[in-house]
Amino acid sequence: MNSALSKYMTLAVPRYTSYPTAPQFDASIDGEAYGAWLARLDPAEPISLYLHVPFCDELCWYCGCNMKLAARYGPVAEYLDSLIGEIDLVAARLSGRLRVSHLHWGGGTPTSLKPDDLARAMLALRSRFDFTDEAEIAIESDPRTLTAEMIERIGALGFNRASFGVQEFDPKVQRAINRIQPPELVATCVEGLRAVGVADINFDLIYGLPHQSVETITATVARCAEMAPDRLALFGYAHVPWMAKKQRLIDEAALPGAEARLAQARAAAEKLQAAGYLAIGLDHFAKPEDPLAIAAREGRLRRNFQGYTTDQAETLLGFGATAIGRTPEGYVQNIAETGAWARAIAEGRPPIGRGRAFAGDDKLRGAVIEQLMCVGAVDTAALGALHEAPPDWCARELESLAPMTAEGLLSIEAGRVEVTEAGQPLVRVVAAAFDRYHARAQKRHSVAV
Ligand code: SF4
Repeated sequence: MNSALSKYMTLAVPRYTSYPTAPQFDASIDGEAYGAWLARLDPAEPISLYLHVPFCDELCWYCGCNMKLAARYGPVAEYLDSLIGEIDLVAARLSGRLRVSHLHWGGGTPTSLKPDDLARAMLALRSRFDFTDEAEIAIESDPRTLTAEMIERIGALGFNRASFGVQEFDPKVQRAINRIQPPELVATCVEGLRAVGVADINFDLIYGLPHQSVETITATVARCAEMAPDRLALFGYAHVPWMAKKQRLIDEAALPGAEARLAQARAAAEKLQAAGYLAIGLDHFAKPEDPLAIAAREGRLRRNFQGYTTDQAETLLGFGATAIGRTPEGYVQNIAETGAWARAIAEGRPPIGRGRAFAGDDKLRGAVIEQLMCVGAVDTAALGALHEAPPDWCARELESLAPMTAEGLLSIEAGRVEVTEAGQPLVRVVAAAFDRYHARAQKRHSVAV
């Protein structure tokens, strides 16, 4: 391995799905402040919606999500009632009827809802918002519990994209992470969804899992390619048991080391590209005709809480416990505890737990970091001028990157930063140089590769 690379790859850095990142959110933004932000949204601008369902039928040990096991359906049904209450409450604070260009149901497992309840929530959304003709309407699903009835309903409700957590097909790895799902099961779900008109399918894969190897991940990629998903995301397993308590069930002795992780990531990426997928950003792959690949070619790739996206909306309204939203004025995050979240809604308050108003040069730094994360290069001088910053606004940051330049991991010329091929695995480390708040939050993040 490149020795310069190995020096940086175990640094803890954010994934930069927002800037400032979530650890910088605090109680300074509450439901009242968010209500004022909502009232100031421009009805002419399309928005995105995210709905969070924190329930799952089984517990995957690698999981870092906010979820609970749904032993009975009662709490799930109550949650859904509150979610519809939140939709009404937020919509009532808007100055007009807004148009939606992207809708994403995430979790947890949104398909753990009963089909009638999913339909009820979609009706509530359609009664409060207009959807653009080309709107992407997406849902995350678990192949282990997806029923034929739910597949039918997903098609009937107009969903056009579904995603599955595939992770790894090797049976030993699946046992070690408590997620048993043979490839045949995933293939049946994919075929079923395509048959009801869900044209686009996403898969998530993970490397760095216990007992995983280059052989198992490349075999998984080969099996996935037979099912021809339109997009795949390839994530490194982030072992943070001090934050994600479920991960204490993972056998740490079976986890691959940093070098093995890098070999797995590279082998999977090569296999995906050999199968005809284009590499997008840091960790996504898409068929050349997929909108994500087209957006990347045309310089329109964006990054948000769902990772890389074609979504150009500046506003994302989040619904559900822990859901994160964004407006032109800042970020908000809903209360995490479902009981407190539901009580706030019952009392008629937007259930905001914390947030962050944009301040100082947050938007400029966010734009620099997003560009680096999307294309591995950024013109800091041009972006600085666009945001009316002084010409030397990031001189110190550029200077701090000088050692990486000397090591061949990036180049800097007249304020333009470009990560080299050797430096690609370290894009997050380069982005962190522009993060004003990074040093304070360093211990909370996963390793760079
Ligand atoms: S990985 Fe997905 S399905 Fe598994 S427990 Fe976490 S949220 Fe639920």
